[in-house]
Amino acid sequence: MVYDKLSSITKRIINDPNAAIDNDEACELATTTHNAIDLIISANKIRETYKADDTFTCSIINAKSGACSEDCAFCPQSAFYKTKARTYPLLDKSKIVERAIEMWNGGANKFSMVTSGYALTEKELDLICEAAILIKEKTGLSLCGSLGVLNEDIAERLKASGLTNYHHNLETARSFFDQVCTTHPYDDDIKSVKIAARAGFKVCSGGIMGLGESWEQRIELAFTLKELDVESIPLNFINPIPGTKMAERPLLAPMDALKCIALYRLINPLKDITICGGREISLGDYQSWTFLAGANGLMVGDYLTTMGRGLKIDMEMIRNMEI
Ligand code: SF4
Repeated sequence: MVYDKLSSITKRIINDPNAAIDNDEACELATTTHNAIDLIISANKIRETYKADDTFTCSIINAKSGACSEDCAFCPQSAFYKTKARTYPLLDKSKIVERAIEMWNGGANKFSMVTSGYALTEKELDLICEAAILIKEKTGLSLCGSLGVLNEDIAERLKASGLTNYHHNLETARSFFDQVCTTHPYDDDIKSVKIAARAGFKVCSGGIMGLGESWEQRIELAFTLKELDVESIPLNFINPIPGTKMAERPLLAPMDALKCIALYRLINPLKDITICGGREISLGDYQSWTFLAGANGLMVGDYLTTMGRGLKIDMEMIRNMEI
């Protein structure tokens, strides 16, 4: 029954990317598909149709770490929690540029400067803009920033310095946000995503699966992102860090993580879906299934506060998938 339904949905989306699944279909598939394989097969066909030639890797630098004023329940960088995450102010320009060159030479296509905190100060903005100009001079990386909430002036200056992408996660569904963050409203994040889009950035916005939200709330987030028309959706999976509010949260089972990716592809057939933090710990041996489940991008190298498994191994995995 589910198989028949999925085959007809797959054909429908392959014929017309605007005929993606709606909220009711997504909820039904999420709750009736106990075996993720059928969903994965469907998502892979859709990825092959629309994203086969659009596979990419992202890399980041945690340019400023810890001491954040926000209380995001999963985040070891929040000043509300006592964790082992490193705390340091904005790195020197030379260090940021050096890391970008290293990632470019290692095969990454995109590079993002990421800072902890609600928003950049004026001085930090100056340094980030100077680093961006140098990175553009020295590499062919597509440049992204994840630098907190935006206003029009900050967006304009970042754009003029060569950033083409802006990343700002919504983290979770609006209906679950109060369980995740209480120091700023959901609408601040929505507003930043809209400002980034208006400034002409390719906007990257997604969230974390496994914070305790329901399948309906995972789907709610997917539809909020669809409505915002973001170009790229980064999906993270819970990595419970000791000291944070989410320290005791269980990991997502690998098949549930793959199911999330597949559902996001069925909801957003034309968008980039990038698999980011928590990949190693949640997917384990199934990491090489990320593209089969519908993703077309992978974050490589280290994450913000946790280590990746190394650029070389990730690049080899992508080559071996021969997609
Ligand atoms: S997720 Fe970002 S805003 Fe939230 S606590 Fe961590 S660094 Fe601060």
